[in-house]
Amino acid sequence: MSPLGQITSQNIFSGATVRDADDQISPGDAAGRLADRLSALDLFQRLAAVRNEVAGSIVFTTSFGLEDQAVAHAILVQDLAIDIVTLDTGRLFPETHQVWAETERRYGRRIRAVVPEHAHVEAFVARHGIDGFRTSVEVRHACCGVRKVAPLGRALNGAAAWITGVRAEQSAERADMRFAALDPLHRLIKVNPLLDWTRSRLVDFVQAHHIPYNALHDRGFPSIGCAPCTRAVAPGEPERAGRWWWEQEEKKECGLHSRLASPATAPASAPSSHP
Ligand code: SF4
Repeated sequence: MSPLGQITSQNIFSGATVRDADDQISPGDAAGRLADRLSALDLFQRLAAVRNEVAGSIVFTTSFGLEDQAVAHAILVQDLAIDIVTLDTGRLFPETHQVWAETERRYGRRIRAVVPEHAHVEAFVARHGIDGFRTSVEVRHACCGVRKVAPLGRALNGAAAWITGVRAEQSAERADMRFAALDPLHRLIKVNPLLDWTRSRLVDFVQAHHIPYNALHDRGFPSIGCAPCTRAVAPGEPERAGRWWWEQEEKKECGLHSRLASPATAPASAPSSHP
C-alpha cells in the first residue's frame, strides 16, 4: 500500500475519502500529499511514484517538445504502465512527425495518436477557412477546441491521472501550477513532474541521455505547436512568444492547460463536463 492509499478515478470525484492505513483523507488532500512527495524526488522517481500511488489508467500527453521527450524517456526506460498519447492535430510540422517516429524506434514502443473528429474539422474549415484561426482570438480558440481540446478529452477519458510536460518557468500562467492537483474538468489528477525544472536543466538532461528531440529546437523554436501557429523566437524573447505570435494577449494557451485544472484544495464536486 502506498503512503497515500491508492488514488483512483472513482474515489477522486465520488466524494469518497482515500483511505490510509491510519486515517482518511480527502481527494484534495491526497493530491496535495502527492504534490508534496513529488517535490523531493528526481524525474525517474516522480514518474514511478505516480504509477505506484495512482490506481487505474494514467495518460501522458506528448507534443514531442523537449519537455515531453524528457518525460517520455523517464517513462519508457522504466517501462512504466503509462499510456503515451499524442494529439495529431493535422497541422503539425514534418519535424514533429519525424521525432515521433524516431522516438518509437529508439524505445520500441508505439505512441497512441488521437486525431480530431473529421466532421468537426470539415465544419470549421467550411465556415472559417483553412487558416481561419488568424481572424480572431475566438476563432483561434475554436480551432484549438476542434483540433486539440476535444481530442484531449477523448484521450483522457477514463484516466485517473494525466501527466504533462508543463514547467513553471514557461509562462506566468503556469508559474502557480502544482506538481499534482485535482483537475475537475477532466475528473482526474493532473501531474506536472517537470514543474520546477529550468530550461538549462532540461537541455542538460536531454543531452546526457541522448534523447531524440525535434530538429526545430536547434532553429530557434523553444516551444513547438502547430506549424502555422508557431514561429522561431529571437534571443531574449519569452519561450512561448512564438506561439500565436500575431495575438496581443499575454496568455498564450490553447486550452489544454486551462485554469479549470484546480489547485489541490478544490472541491471534489466540481463540474464534470468534457471539452
Ligand atoms: S495551434 Fe493553430 S492550427 Fe493548431 S489547433 Fe490551435 S489554432 Fe488550430
